[in-house]
Amino acid sequence: MSSPLTTILLVEDDPTDAARIRQSLTGACDQSFRVESVAHLADALARLGCGGVQLVLLALDLPDAQGIEAFEQVAAIAGDALIVVLSAAGDEATARQALERGASDYFVKGDMDVHWLPRALHHLLETTKARAALRASEARFRAMSDASPLGIFVSDEAGDCVYTNAAYHAISGLSFAETLGTKWSTAIHPADRQRVLAEWHDAVHSQEAFRTEFRFLQPDRSIVWTRVNSAAMNEGLHSGGRVQTVEDITERKSIEFALRAAEEALFEEKERAQVTLDSIGDAVLSTDLLGRVTYLNAVAEAMTGWAREEARGRPLPEVFHIIDGKTRQSAPNPAQLAIEENRIVGLAADSVLLRRDGVEYAIEDSAAPIHNRDGRVTGAVIVFHDVSESRAMVLKMAHLAQHDFLTGLPNRMLLTERLAQAMGLARRRCKQLALLFLDLDCFKNVNDSLGHAVGDQLLRSVAVRLSACVRTTDTVCRQGGDEFVILLAEIEQPQDAAVVAEKLLVALAEPQRIGEHELHVTLSIGISVYPDDGTSVDAVLQNADTAMYHAKAGGRNKYQFFTGNMNSHAVRRLFVETGLRRALRRGEFLLHYQPQVDLASGALTGSEALIRWRDPTVGLIDPDGFVAIAEQCGLIVPIGRWALREACRQNQSWRQAGLQAVPVAVNISAVEIRQKGFVEGVARILDETGLAPCFLELELTEGSLMHDTEASALVLGELKAMGVKLALDDFGTGYSSLSCLRRFPIDTLKIDQSFVCDLVSNADDATIVSAVIGMGRNLKRRVIAEGVENSAQLAFLRAEQCDGGQGFLFNRPLAAADFAGLLPAA
Ligand code: C2E
Ligand code: MG
Ligand code: MG
Repeated sequence: MSSPLTTILLVEDDPTDAARIRQSLTGACDQSFRVESVAHLADALARLGCGGVQLVLLALDLPDAQGIEAFEQVAAIAGDALIVVLSAAGDEATARQALERGASDYFVKGDMDVHWLPRALHHLLETTKARAALRASEARFRAMSDASPLGIFVSDEAGDCVYTNAAYHAISGLSFAETLGTKWSTAIHPADRQRVLAEWHDAVHSQEAFRTEFRFLQPDRSIVWTRVNSAAMNEGLHSGGRVQTVEDITERKSIEFALRAAEEALFEEKERAQVTLDSIGDAVLSTDLLGRVTYLNAVAEAMTGWAREEARGRPLPEVFHIIDGKTRQSAPNPAQLAIEENRIVGLAADSVLLRRDGVEYAIEDSAAPIHNRDGRVTGAVIVFHDVSESRAMVLKMAHLAQHDFLTGLPNRMLLTERLAQAMGLARRRCKQLALLFLDLDCFKNVNDSLGHAVGDQLLRSVAVRLSACVRTTDTVCRQGGDEFVILLAEIEQPQDAAVVAEKLLVALAEPQRIGEHELHVTLSIGISVYPDDGTSVDAVLQNADTAMYHAKAGGRNKYQFFTGNMNSHAVRRLFVETGLRRALRRGEFLLHYQPQVDLASGALTGSEALIRWRDPTVGLIDPDGFVAIAEQCGLIVPIGRWALREACRQNQSWRQAGLQAVPVAVNISAVEIRQKGFVEGVARILDETGLAPCFLELELTEGSLMHDTEASALVLGELKAMGVKLALDDFGTGYSSLSCLRRFPIDTLKIDQSFVCDLVSNADDATIVSAVIGMGRNLKRRVIAEGVENSAQLAFLRAEQCDGGQGFLFNRPLAAADFAGLLPAA
């Protein structure tokens, strides 16, 4: 195939030259030129305006234009057409000028060898084409390289940059001009430089491809993370140089960093959770949605007997085997319920965990669902702990609260509860029940003489015997002290209770062996029956108690049914009264003596005799417990006479024993003073004991005198005449204290202890006490303050110049022997 014709426009006005050139070109053997010829510039310009000319042969000496001027006009319109100047010999300077301005070449007309012309033009056309192709290729390459997101850095064999693309400029923050001639390592962040250069060195040395990641530090200090690949260029222009691609991986890196930070945070969180789970006291176990174990903490491992790894994936009931402590049946799985109902589920009360080896734990706690991020349930966690100890403690506490510590029998609280239940049951079944109130006779003696340890053992032994006498459905309870109560939960008739009572009396009749002692104790039993003797717990209990007092008063070691006419107060009175009679008969009374002192000197000036009753069962009883009853039943008369005689006898016996006895004051009750023959009685006692009347003082209360003032005045006058001293006791508590003083020949006023008690804190009491002391002084009566308990009271009384005092501050009432110790020898 022949190559396309090249259209040549020959611009030459010399016909000879023109013909020669044309002939040479068209005559060329390959016939590849088509020559159009013009002689004027104007024609040339017109032709060029039509296009299709590839080469212009331009002579510069035309008729209508010459020199460089002609060239410029042609060049302006020639477009891509090559312009070869035909220069006249001797005007090469203009031709060179044209070359500078874009002409492709020039020939000097005289020297031109027209035979070579076609070849020369061919060569020119070829090289021009090749250059254009190269330029286009370069432009393509640059466009491609600039479109690449990878940065490209090309260096020559010296390592100096010869090319960088747009992406590289963006990554490095440097312009093309700034990169040219620099080394690739310029942009490495100083912190990465040492590492990267070491890697580079190794790669170059072993002629391996170099690939690494590092940071670019831009001139504005921004940091760009990059991945760099470097390869050697072994061919072409820059053989021995290298090309590096630079990928901006900042985004990937920051994701990587964030991911790593998240991973680390997750790890830390996991660690924390693990440490927490392993250091808490609770057991924690989790399952997946299907109820397979996913996790156990250390406590859960210990309590279930399963190691974490071993348990993982197993069905929960296999690892966490719980049963109901009461029924021993397998208990429902709490995790399953928590998952199914998506809520926290508490374990059933009384849950017992069976460890792998069969050991049991009473456990308590709950299961909760575990949710994923979308809020969907993915499993459950069970938290539990061992409550064996606390559950045992609760049972123990409940037992202790309801049982007597000493005997282990139910206590009053439990009895009350059972009695209420039994009453409800009896009511519904129209049955009766009986309550037996038991009191040990003379238990006090055992305690006092053999000590509490023996007493306690005896109570335990009694408890055993009592329990043996009743059915298991009955309740034997220790009420406290030596009192027991027995509830017969169901009886057909009251007589059934009597049978039990008799059985009890017989059971106790046998002596009890406590250590080396053989002890006899008897019982007094009171019985009340529901519903006849009361329909409330309190009434039934109270009436059994009352009946018991009756039994005691009736001679002990017996039982007594409650009857409607027993009133508890009267029964108690009867009981005391019976006791007092016995006390008189058996000589159970004694006197204590409380010193009276002179407040100014502290000297012992007298004593007050205070009666005590040593009851064999109860022990020492103070007068408050029996004097009032003794007065009511008249027993105070013989008791008072005994006290008076005993006081006189004792006083006289101290004298005879060579002691400097002080006068003794004896309390006389209203009943006594009104008694006919009282004065004679006093006289007889003085006579019998031999005590001089001046050593006896009688303490009377205003109440006893004001009842019949005439008679009182008479009696007191006679006593006074005998030489006996008289004291007004509890002064200030009555309504007629002052008229008493006026009417009766009183020697001593005893300020009642209620005023003395508060005189330091109560201004009224202090005023009354001062007034009484002042009045006593003016009326020439001795004044004694009762109940002096502390030094503040003493200081006040001293300051007020009270004569005497009596009270715990100086001495408590003392047994006769102890009081004698205070008396100096005569
Ligand atoms: P009383 O005659 O006023 O006897 C004083 C009472 O005060 C005594 O009580 C005595 O122990 C108590 N006492 C003494 N010093 C203090 C003190 O510093 N502070 C306190 N808080 N109390 C003190 P006791 O012995 O219990 O006698 C009570 C009452 O019984 C006597 O009061 C008297 O009225 C009556 N009583 C005592 N013995 C007999 C008696 O033989 N025959 C009669 N009929 N009554 C008597
Ligand atoms: Mg008194
Ligand atoms: Mg008194």
